[in-house]
Amino acid sequence: MSAIMPTYGRLPVTFASGAGAYLTDQKGRQYLDALSGIAVTNLGHSHPSVTRAVTEQAESLLHTSNLYGIAQQERLAAELNQLTGMERIFFCNSGAEANETAIKMARRHGHNKGIANPQIVVLEGAFHGRTMGALSATGSAAIQAAFKPLLPGFIRIARNDTEALEALVKTRDDIVAIHLEPVQGESGIYPLDHAFLVRARELCDQEDWLLSFDEVQSGNGRCGALYVFQRLGIIPDVLATAKGLGNGLPIGACMARGRASDLLVAGDHGTTYGGNPICCAAASAVINALSADQLWDRADIIRTAIFEGLDSEIADGDLIRDRRGLGLMIGIEPTVPTDNLVRMALDRHLLINVAGGNTIRLLPPLVMNTDDARHVGATVADIVNSLKDA
Ligand SMILES: *Cc1c(COP(=O)(O)O)cnc(C)c1O
Repeated sequence: MSAIMPTYGRLPVTFASGAGAYLTDQKGRQYLDALSGIAVTNLGHSHPSVTRAVTEQAESLLHTSNLYGIAQQERLAAELNQLTGMERIFFCNSGAEANETAIKMARRHGHNKGIANPQIVVLEGAFHGRTMGALSATGSAAIQAAFKPLLPGFIRIARNDTEALEALVKTRDDIVAIHLEPVQGESGIYPLDHAFLVRARELCDQEDWLLSFDEVQSGNGRCGALYVFQRLGIIPDVLATAKGLGNGLPIGACMARGRASDLLVAGDHGTTYGGNPICCAAASAVINALSADQLWDRADIIRTAIFEGLDSEIADGDLIRDRRGLGLMIGIEPTVPTDNLVRMALDRHLLINVAGGNTIRLLPPLVMNTDDARHVGATVADIVNSLKDA
């Protein structure tokens, strides 16, 4: 019996070290990493400036408390605000917690307006995390069923359903926010329609709702901008992120601007570890490395190379039903069953993932070179070809 709760379906490999887009297992075998620890190591493994920042910080101070000033936290907040146009940030330790913060902000916004039972609009196919609030906002019956009762206060509509949004304006007076991933990740990589997001922004302005983006997965350079909203040109009031922010150190952030930035006040929210010196030092190094030469511009270059590799190897174009995503959130939906695909890729020393049941999910790091990116696409094609023949 394992000493660890069996909450994960783990692959039979254990890594000992990593550099750039490569991981090395305990037996010294190298693997090409096209998953980045699920959108975390966007700068690759063992990025020198992150390693240096963590090492230097570890030598002077790991933790104090949010009872005191934390210089590293203030510096990181100033850097993020400067790069995003956001105005105030709450730091936490994960994506779920960043979303919990956004949910509490939305409810606080409602109570400030005298709405006793504030409702947040969320989408089908959404994934916001595993804590009870974030799980309730998530749109997956499979991961919710065993943990009912869920938190009330969420109204779910189909993704891109502008009409449903308009109908809510007419029929309800208790909505306070729309919370969504501009590019849905876990449900199979679905970028939302631009027109839907534009309308969501307009309705939020008109109705005094908060537009709240979950960029836990899409953010931190992954989709061809520091945050996707900057590429889309649709500015949210609240921006939740985590994953790539620490490149492996656990840190999340809930950023806010305008009227959203004054919502949470002393006593409303807190965390022991959130914004601690070492995670903030790591995140500052990440943000500076990403923005120094706009590393996110590599996202589309790597994406193109992956599809070149895929197209050059695929036996028949009809084997690929759909390809979706933005930058380095890539969804490839084949017509063959995807059940064994991750394991077959592992056997070929390539790390990939399947999301939404039938979609190959690729989340490579921004530092992958184009030869390796072509190899990722070609290997995926090769596996799909072999499943067709099987
Ligand atoms: C991974 C993810 C989360 C949850 O993040 P954790 O750090 O695992 O709590 C929330 N939202 C989105 C969009 C994610 O991809």
